[in-house]
Amino acid sequence: MPRPIEAIIDLQALRNNVAVARRHAGASGVFAVVKADAYGHGLERVLPALEMADGFAVVELDAALRVRADAPSKPILLLEGFFDEQELIDISTHRLSAVVHERSQFDMLLAATLPQPIDVFVKINTGMNRLGFRVGDAAEVVADLRTCGNVRQVMAMTHFADADGARGVDWQMRPLLQLTDSLDLKICAANSAALLRYPQSHGAWVRPGIMLYGASPFEDVTAQRLGIRPVMTLRSRIIAVQTLAPGDSVGYGCTYVADRAMRIGIVAAGYGDGYPRHAPSGTPALVSGERVQTVGRVSMDTLVVDLAPVPRAGVDSEITLWGEGLPVEQVAGAAGTVSYELLTRVTPRVPFRVRDDG
Ligand SMILES: *Cc1c(COP(=O)(O)O)cnc(C)c1O
Repeated sequence: MPRPIEAIIDLQALRNNVAVARRHAGASGVFAVVKADAYGHGLERVLPALEMADGFAVVELDAALRVRADAPSKPILLLEGFFDEQELIDISTHRLSAVVHERSQFDMLLAATLPQPIDVFVKINTGMNRLGFRVGDAAEVVADLRTCGNVRQVMAMTHFADADGARGVDWQMRPLLQLTDSLDLKICAANSAALLRYPQSHGAWVRPGIMLYGASPFEDVTAQRLGIRPVMTLRSRIIAVQTLAPGDSVGYGCTYVADRAMRIGIVAAGYGDGYPRHAPSGTPALVSGERVQTVGRVSMDTLVVDLAPVPRAGVDSEITLWGEGLPVEQVAGAAGTVSYELLTRVTPRVPFRVRDDG
């Protein structure tokens, strides 16, 4: 038998989550965000379950072209636009849509000779202060794009800094709406959190990512309450069992010392598989459906769990590291990171398997 770790991708869960996004979106179009290899799930693996999306959004041009091969007519949006003129030509050739967020992109677009005009989403910096034109500069940029022969249609796009948190979206929606009302621009603004919580942000297009993969964008609302289900389950097996006496330690650095007699399970999963090395003792996992906790440091190929809650577990028992029955948000929270990072960091040595039962 091969090393037992695997990542299972549940396409029925993905279809369910897209349906939830669709329902919240109402009349708005849904761009399914599939950047970073579909948040680590595998672009080609997930596309068959995204038929209900109205379009796709990615960061990488090569991914956009792969999506185009699968979806010949749907809009595909490049969230960071293009980085050189050849990319711009490819965008035009393959009827992709591009964000324009910066003066040099704007100049390139105005100067280019393109096979056909493209749809442009002008990114407006409404407070994130990462990408986008200042609100005060936007009217001129939009006017120039509207008279440019390389541009078919101009829309407005922004990104929210705290849609999942206390500040919400209205402080960013206000300047955006002022601009889009006066210039008669369609809006594309909402990420998962805004789609789920702020209908006033929906506009013509929404851009959910993380919710499609079944993780809640909110710290205070579970995925289950949102009606979404985990798409990726990372699981492995116990490959050895040790019994410890009080005073025995576990793993590198001897950071965990048993204060009682213990049975511990050694799991074939480590940071070499993408499990977070910074997950401290006490990070949850599931053995035979029961919650257990890690003990000691995560190493490259193994991690260790306390088997006290599951006395019948032993070598070959299955363990869920995150996914079905154990939200990835909980593991991420314990490890001081976010679900996005864990999902996108599963390493190439982990085999993926697609499940698509009826
Ligand atoms: C990644 C990304 C999204 C999706 O955000 P989620 O929080 O995953 O829903 C939307 N818009 C932009 C610009 C992004 O980069």
